[in-house]
Amino acid sequence: MALDDDELLILDDEEVVTSGVWKILIVDDDEDVHIATEHALAGETLLGRSLVFLHAHSAAEARERLQVNADVAVILLDVVMETQHAGLDLVAYIRRDLELSMPRIILRTGQPGYAPELTAVRDYDINDYKTKSELTRSKLYTTVLAALRSFDQLRRMDANRRGLEQIIEACGELLHESGLKAFSAGVIRQLAAFIGVESDGLLCTQVNLDRRGGKHAGDDDYIVLAAAGRYEPLIGLHLNQIDSPRVRDSLRLCLARQQHVFERESQTLYFSMQGSRGFAAYIDTSRPTSVIDSRLLEVFCANVSICADNINLINRLKDSAYFDHLVGLPNRTAFVQAVDHAYGEGANPWDYVVLVDIDQFAEINNAFGHEYGDHLLEALASRLKQRFEPDCFVARISGDTFGLLGAEAALKPEYLRAVFAEPFNINGAGHVVAISTGIVRLTDSGPDGQGVLKDASIARKLAREKSVNSDAYYAPHIGFQAKERTRLLQQLQGAFDLDRLFAVYQPQIDMVTRRVTGFEALMRWRNDAGEFVPPDHFIPLAEQSGLIVGMGDWILRDALHALRQLAAEGWRDLTMSVNVSAVQFRMPNFLDSLRQAIADTGVAPQLLELEITESVAMMGQTVVEETLASIRQMGISVAIDDFGTGFSSLSYLSNLPLDRIKIDRSFVHAMSGDGDSRRIADLVIQLGRNLNLRVIAEGVETEAQASRLLELGCHEVQGFLYGRPMDPDSLRDWLKNWKALYG
Ligand code: C2E
Ligand code: CA
Ligand code: CA
Repeated sequence: MALDDDELLILDDEEVVTSGVWKILIVDDDEDVHIATEHALAGETLLGRSLVFLHAHSAAEARERLQVNADVAVILLDVVMETQHAGLDLVAYIRRDLELSMPRIILRTGQPGYAPELTAVRDYDINDYKTKSELTRSKLYTTVLAALRSFDQLRRMDANRRGLEQIIEACGELLHESGLKAFSAGVIRQLAAFIGVESDGLLCTQVNLDRRGGKHAGDDDYIVLAAAGRYEPLIGLHLNQIDSPRVRDSLRLCLARQQHVFERESQTLYFSMQGSRGFAAYIDTSRPTSVIDSRLLEVFCANVSICADNINLINRLKDSAYFDHLVGLPNRTAFVQAVDHAYGEGANPWDYVVLVDIDQFAEINNAFGHEYGDHLLEALASRLKQRFEPDCFVARISGDTFGLLGAEAALKPEYLRAVFAEPFNINGAGHVVAISTGIVRLTDSGPDGQGVLKDASIARKLAREKSVNSDAYYAPHIGFQAKERTRLLQQLQGAFDLDRLFAVYQPQIDMVTRRVTGFEALMRWRNDAGEFVPPDHFIPLAEQSGLIVGMGDWILRDALHALRQLAAEGWRDLTMSVNVSAVQFRMPNFLDSLRQAIADTGVAPQLLELEITESVAMMGQTVVEETLASIRQMGISVAIDDFGTGFSSLSYLSNLPLDRIKIDRSFVHAMSGDGDSRRIADLVIQLGRNLNLRVIAEGVETEAQASRLLELGCHEVQGFLYGRPMDPDSLRDWLKNWKALYG
């Protein structure tokens, strides 16, 4: 099968005809990764064959693909998909259940901090591990090429099962070793066993392979990293310090040519590695070895190389799991550990944690660009480091948040403010930064680093609510309130799921005729303890969590149902007002769900009114206008709720397509007050009337309020004076009563 350069081959479940192609399976739940990967490799011919791509967007889909495509050569596998472990579980399935040992597996992850368990790499013969950002076109190319080479060898060697098993086993063994020295010793041991000789041998590598070795070594500055048998005394010597010319020359030749050197009494094998010079293993074969297949030896070396790369890689990933390279500071994980450690120490002088958050960082990023934002973070980090290290532990916790751990005396808020008083020099210009700081004393918090961070961010939120550039201390009761809210939200979610919420209906009355015109639907929640939780408590929670969307849809349907039921019983032409929160209003499918509710309940849309607050109306001209227009096109009315509390501009309101305004109950209450507040109340009602809309007043409790409202020209009223919010049964009784009185 030939592939044009740009031709992308889309494959379905059927097996692909495969002579002369390599099948590459891409498993990732991110479509962009599929596209980018395929794009990077499209049209390449590797080891004489073109590539064919198979795609799976979940582990489940990958299983299906593999069941019919057992000859996949390379699997590029996302670690985290449906679940945290979906990737590794799939590997287990491939190796154990499908018993596919040949496909080479390259794990990929989006999170640089996430390193796979060493045991998983070992047990499942994972061949490579990359973060997605590492997979540039050229790196992807070399990675896939190496994997294909290995696959090709395995495939050709398939006949020699025993040899292969030994190799896989050897690599598994090798990956047990942590650290390069132990690994090297393992290589000699495995190599000797593989060739079938005593383990008299040594392994040479360039010094800077060992990262902690630091300095760069000269080109031929190799040292003996591991040795076994009679060569043991050579450990740590430089290559040119080895006495035996035979050993020395073989190693030199092997390293210089980067290939194996076979001699009568020895074999010196070369192991290449990604991004470094590779290493050489010399082993005595003083008696003639059993003839081993040189190709098998090749596979052995290739796999040992991959093991070495993996060990290198895992070390590097472990390192980046604790370090933030952008700003050169330890990261959140490291910070949490440091605080954990401070707890472990008992009475620790470092008993304060301060969280520093840049105000408006998102806006800065948007206005000046991400590069600018990065520079600002670097500048901030370096100033914090300069001022507070080594007296404190400084880390970057997340995007624009830094954490400090130290003694109280070292972390005074004024010290921090001083650090940020001077503008930061970014691209030659000064930038002033405002910060919010949350401060926690470890003895007030706990039980560990995670808990402390949580409490510190509660305090930081309080600081932000205060004003710019302020700080707040965490106190246990604050945390209690936050936890209380979380608990309440969980209960509310449960109550909603279990249909424990219900609606009550409050009548609305025409001032002149005294007839009932309709109802407002209000939500009620009786919690597990049987107490009513006021809507003013739970509605804001529901709005913050998004739960209001589902709840709002539910009460809308419930209210329309109740209205239809009443109509069926003869209470016709009454309207139903339903409150709609800003969160619902913003949902892109709001109009659809409205339409659907009307269709499902069969209520005439003219009988439905939506109450929106002024804050919704002010959300943004065109969007709001368009949505309101669509609502009214459907025949539904719109009222402005809590009128007078939102300070919205009247000229703006007068341009919106509205039907009614609802005077907030606070103004109705104020009517019974002294001169000033009375005048304000009067004014608000007059303002409402000036909009040429119908006016309803809510919260009417006294006859005095009612007669004043009538004087002012208010059309309708709602309040305890007439009827409380009631469940449908009480509402029926109330309606009968009212009809008997007023017709
Ligand atoms: P709201 O929309 O202004 O609702 C009117 C509130 O005034 C209701 O309080 C009602 O019980 C109360 N009220 C009625 N007549 C009188 C009276 O004569 N005197 C006094 N003092 N109060 C009276 P409720 O039911 O506690 O609801 C409070 C708020 O919770 C509502 O204010 C509304 O903002 C919100 N809410 C209630 N149900 C829903 C809902 O289904 N969806 C949304 N988004 N919000 C709701
Ligand atoms: Ca309302
Ligand atoms: Ca209201």
